[in-house]
Amino acid sequence: MTEPLITSPETSVTIASPTFNELGLQTSLLTAINALGYQQPTPIQLAAIPAILQGRDLVAGAETGSGKTAAFALPLLQRLSTTPNTATRSMGNQVRALIIAPTRELAVQIGEAIAAYGQYQQPALKVCTVFGGVGLNPQLLALRGGADIVVATTGRLLDIVQHNGIKFDVLETLVLDEADKMLGLGFSDELNQILALLPKKRQNLLFSATFPPELSFLIAKLLKNPVEINIAKRDDSLIEQHVYTVEAERKNALLIHLIQTGDWQQVLVFASAKNTCNRLVLKLEKAGIQAAAFHGDLSQSARNNALRDFKARQIRVLIATDVASRGIDIEQLPYVVNFDLPRSPNDYIHRIGRTGRAGQQGQAIALICPDEYAHFQLIEKRMKKRLPREQVVGFEVGEI
Ligand code: AMP
Repeated sequence: MTEPLITSPETSVTIASPTFNELGLQTSLLTAINALGYQQPTPIQLAAIPAILQGRDLVAGAETGSGKTAAFALPLLQRLSTTPNTATRSMGNQVRALIIAPTRELAVQIGEAIAAYGQYQQPALKVCTVFGGVGLNPQLLALRGGADIVVATTGRLLDIVQHNGIKFDVLETLVLDEADKMLGLGFSDELNQILALLPKKRQNLLFSATFPPELSFLIAKLLKNPVEINIAKRDDSLIEQHVYTVEAERKNALLIHLIQTGDWQQVLVFASAKNTCNRLVLKLEKAGIQAAAFHGDLSQSARNNALRDFKARQIRVLIATDVASRGIDIEQLPYVVNFDLPRSPNDYIHRIGRTGRAGQQGQAIALICPDEYAHFQLIEKRMKKRLPREQVVGFEVGEI
């Protein structure tokens, strides 16, 4: 395992950290990395890229925000472009690399990241992203003649298999991204059905933020002599947390006040219920703040549009539920607001982890009303951190 540390703790001397140029990546990929403005590989990239280029299996403990997508996508693109495609026309719609993700949003993001990293490769590799909630036929059509890389969610991939739309005889690499979430969302059976269809000899890469016991079985079954990478938890000192106490009925007004007085742009707000999201959108719009909801009752295209507009900064505030937000990755998201608290402390940590990424400072703000004080203490216990309660002038509640 490559040691990803870049400073020596004993001496505090900074050791020059390797650059992307030293990782053995081809020029076209380096050009893309440069165009994206990445200056240095992240620890997971440093450790994973050489191992994947060598064809090793890999299991990596890494969270969203660690740079894990590039860690597998860059060497994958390189391997596919430097080894011949052994599929022939008569073999049908063959795929050479399969990436499985737990949610549609994550699949779309991986597909987009791969397109960006591979944009200067000649000839270009063919990448298809397939996920449920949208029409099947365009995806079947896109897969005609096969693809170099398919990014898929499990259910839709099985639909496509049933329609004879994809074949795995020449599959070289399988990537499971956010494997813990995949099992957590109950996709274990679907995943096993897919694994049964794949050729035995292949490269396997598994990424997961956590390693619950049920994942051990999958790891043992899937990976052969894997390189193990465990990147320490992200430095959460990049996340500046504020907790504002406020009466429940004044939360709307406080949110609007904070956004306006702080001139916050790009704010991701979490609410626990879909109707809270919808109601908040109306309130914010009324105050002249462009906002959109992002939850499971909206059509896939409404969700895609909301995310696209939010990323393009045409919408200032996105109001999301936890389930819909999984895997949302927005570069340098500066503000995350917990409008109400999630039930599980893990979800809270997941929510605030949407900010403070890739070395950029971010702010996580929680608005808590008296009914939520006790629950917030549980969350603090889990974070092993006690945060000062703050009050905003004009929005005070009694002493806690
Ligand atoms: P991921 O963990 O793959 O979701 O990536 C998190 C974010 O970090 C994405 O927005 C990437 O574009 C960005 N990123 C990935 N690698 C680097 C890097 N080496 N330098 C700066 N940003 C990066």
